[in-house]
Amino acid sequence: MTDAQALIKTLDFQLDIQSDNESLLYDATLEARRVYNETIRLAKEGVDWDAIPDRVADDAALVKNTTQRVVAKALGAMENYYEYDDFGQPSHTKDGAYPLRANYEEGYNLSLTDDGDVAFRISAKPYKHVKGVLKGSDVHLDILKTALTSDEWKIGTAEALFHNNNAELHVNVTNTEQTVRDKQDSRTVVGVDVNEDNVALTTLSKDSVEDTLVIDFPEIKFERHRYFTMRKRVQNAGKDSIHDTLEGREERFVHDRLHKVSRHIVEWSRQFEKPCIVFEDLKEMRDSIDYGTRMNRRLHHLPFRALQFYTSYKAAFEGIPTAWINPEYTSQRCPMCGHTERANRNKNRFKCRDCGHQDHSDRGASVNIAVKGSKNLDWNVPALNSLPVVRKVRRQASGAVDAPTVTHPTTRGYQADGRMGVSN
Ligand SMILES: [Zn+2]
Repeated sequence: MTDAQALIKTLDFQLDIQSDNESLLYDATLEARRVYNETIRLAKEGVDWDAIPDRVADDAALVKNTTQRVVAKALGAMENYYEYDDFGQPSHTKDGAYPLRANYEEGYNLSLTDDGDVAFRISAKPYKHVKGVLKGSDVHLDILKTALTSDEWKIGTAEALFHNNNAELHVNVTNTEQTVRDKQDSRTVVGVDVNEDNVALTTLSKDSVEDTLVIDFPEIKFERHRYFTMRKRVQNAGKDSIHDTLEGREERFVHDRLHKVSRHIVEWSRQFEKPCIVFEDLKEMRDSIDYGTRMNRRLHHLPFRALQFYTSYKAAFEGIPTAWINPEYTSQRCPMCGHTERANRNKNRFKCRDCGHQDHSDRGASVNIAVKGSKNLDWNVPALNSLPVVRKVRRQASGAVDAPTVTHPTTRGYQADGRMGVSN
């Protein structure tokens, strides 16, 4: 990771189409699907990726640079599959609309109207435009209007798509002036341990461990398992189109929830002095030879990269830097004495074979991640004599609620306020 992080935000709008040719836009999204499928098919066939854009663009009924954007997105999906296995190998047989990704001022254009609206013009086909005004939340419209009039913002690619039969436009904007604080200036480090049904966060200052929070999201795991079973069933019955629909629904559900969790992580981190949020670099782990069954399982159970990415860019908008560490041994190391042994950990329980320290295992990992992160910042890591109690919240569709916690002190007896204790 470089120090500079782009501040990119995606703004979502509904399209109020006034040019009376909504079907033209819909046809273009079907053509985008065909382009996507063709790209994936060629990539699977082993065609040189550099040769694919021209090959596909030649007979696509889209504006050329729009075709190139869709091809690039398809190849990105293939790349993600090879790197991270996020959602299985991309399909080239799905049908239905696919987002029409377009370059600003080439595939689409925006302008302020005299009425204070934002007008759009999308080139659905070469020389054929769909026009109207954008509708959406005040917050997103405000940012977009600012972006249209200020040098501080740059408008980037957009995606036109249909969501529940409604036409939408998702616009990427970049703030070119706002900067992310240099992570070397950080005063606290927030270690983030991502798991199948929770994230554990621990904040380390130069003196001590400040606080720990575990955000539980059991419904993501539950829903993913439910979808997995449903998909297997329809797949066995040969109903591929239903399989694909379910996959799309699952992906939207999971990503919506991950957005909420990532927002929560950033909100919590903001309370500390000059935080730097630290993640495990799972790619590095994957490339090493023996990364153990826990990591293997984690890699296949949640689109971790997505959660890390969402958190990272939301943090960037608050000026908060992020950093990445090698995840080796983060789950086996005792956060108190440093003794590292696989047997320290037994599922959700952590018990150090050397000093006897007992902990919530994911919290322990988040402490280790924070410690590694602070070493990368050249801190003298404080000796940890005590750890604060683990606070738990449960993340539900309706928001976060405090989860009931079992109260008992950690082995070394530290209690912040007697309110809650280590559970598990
Ligand atoms: Zn120990």
